[in-house]
Amino acid sequence: MDFTLSEEQEAIRDTCKEFAQQEIKPRAAAMDESGAFPYDIVHQMAELGLLGLPFPEKYGGAGADFLSYCLAIEEISRGDVSVGVTMEAHISLGTMPFYLFGSQEQKEQYLPPLVRGEQLWAFGLTEPEAGTDAGGTQTRATLENECWHINGSKAFITNAGTTMTGGVTITAVTGQRTDGHNEISNLIVPRNTPGYSIGQAYKKMGWKASDTRPLAFEDCIVPAQNILGRRGDGFKQFMHILGAGRIAIAALSVGLAQACLDEALSYAQQRKQFGRPISKFQAIQFKLADMATEIELARLMYYKAAWLHMQGKSYTREAAMAKLFASETAKRAADQAVQIHGGYGFMDEYPVSRYWRSVKINEIGEGTSEVQRMLIAKQLGC
Ligand SMILES: Cc1cc2nc3c(=O)[nH]c(=O)nc-3n(C[C@H](O)[C@H](O)[C@H](O)COP(=O)(O)OP(=O)(O)OC[C@H]3O[C@@H](n4cnc5c(N)ncnc54)[C@H](O)[C@@H]3O)c2cc1C
Repeated sequence: MDFTLSEEQEAIRDTCKEFAQQEIKPRAAAMDESGAFPYDIVHQMAELGLLGLPFPEKYGGAGADFLSYCLAIEEISRGDVSVGVTMEAHISLGTMPFYLFGSQEQKEQYLPPLVRGEQLWAFGLTEPEAGTDAGGTQTRATLENECWHINGSKAFITNAGTTMTGGVTITAVTGQRTDGHNEISNLIVPRNTPGYSIGQAYKKMGWKASDTRPLAFEDCIVPAQNILGRRGDGFKQFMHILGAGRIAIAALSVGLAQACLDEALSYAQQRKQFGRPISKFQAIQFKLADMATEIELARLMYYKAAWLHMQGKSYTREAAMAKLFASETAKRAADQAVQIHGGYGFMDEYPVSRYWRSVKINEIGEGTSEVQRMLIAKQLGC
């Protein structure tokens, strides 16, 4: 078994680390306070090729492997998790569906500006009444005169409302299958399509500088060819997208957990009580040692899931385990990081208070911890 990263993987990780530590982290507190979307940082990431990292060069991408993409997500999220999720949602949720399921024409039309990072794209699955039960979508699309007429709404959609967003791909019920279940398809809705309205950004507890919006579709009309892949494949497509997305979210959680350890260790080495740095007390050392151990384990779990993905092997169980364990590791790390900071950890001027607020969503987005446990139990044969 060889755990060595390739030269290319190391180079991508190191470039992202340097960029995140120098350009993103120093601005994270201000971004959290204002909630403003960091266009300049996203443009810089586009210039570095990060927004098209795992896509082929023929579409303008960097042609990097899936693990390299996850390493990049870890390091960017270590700098700031709002920026990390902006990148993850753009690549895993927004752009990947075109690459995996789009027709050749759709790939040529949509991928180049997305892969070059000139545009962002969103994926709208969740609805006000259909979250975990994503197959319970109530948004409907009917085919009339070679056009889809869409009616319904979506909730909590990332990257949907920035000025550089090109559009959203949504799930909708497009008919009924012979077994009586709803037929679900994915439809491409460019921004500015009449009948498509983007709501005000939510005010959130964390991930404040990422863009999250409700969307409404009122007799929104798109051409028949705006269906992604085959009619009726929508459910299969989004399950596939969420499966791989879990590995990237695990990497994002590891990045945030590592940021908690970075801050806690550096604070513990500086803060003195009883005439000694608190890092000399065994109670603090054990907290740091446990954080480091769990983070290493969570990292190895996402590495393994990414490796399985790259080998074309099944990764459902490992991706769910990695997402579950990494998000809960990050939560424990954020909690201990605040504890190690004492009262200062409760103050906004210390990054750990922001980490503590931001970490909760990792156990909810792209499938809650309960869903991951259900998936793992199913794989066990329950
Ligand atoms: C900041 C943010 C960004 C997001 N970005 C996107 C995006 O870009 N695109 C998108 O489509 N969605 C997005 N989401 C939505 C996210 O994926 C959902 O919030 C998540 O899937 C949970 O759905 P819900 O919020 O409706 O919770 P619910 O499904 O209502 O769940 C509520 C609780 O019940 C539990 N539960 C539900 N069903 C079961 C069950 N069968 N067994 C046991 N427990 C159960 C859940 O685990 C949870 O604890 C985002 C959400 C947030 C907050």
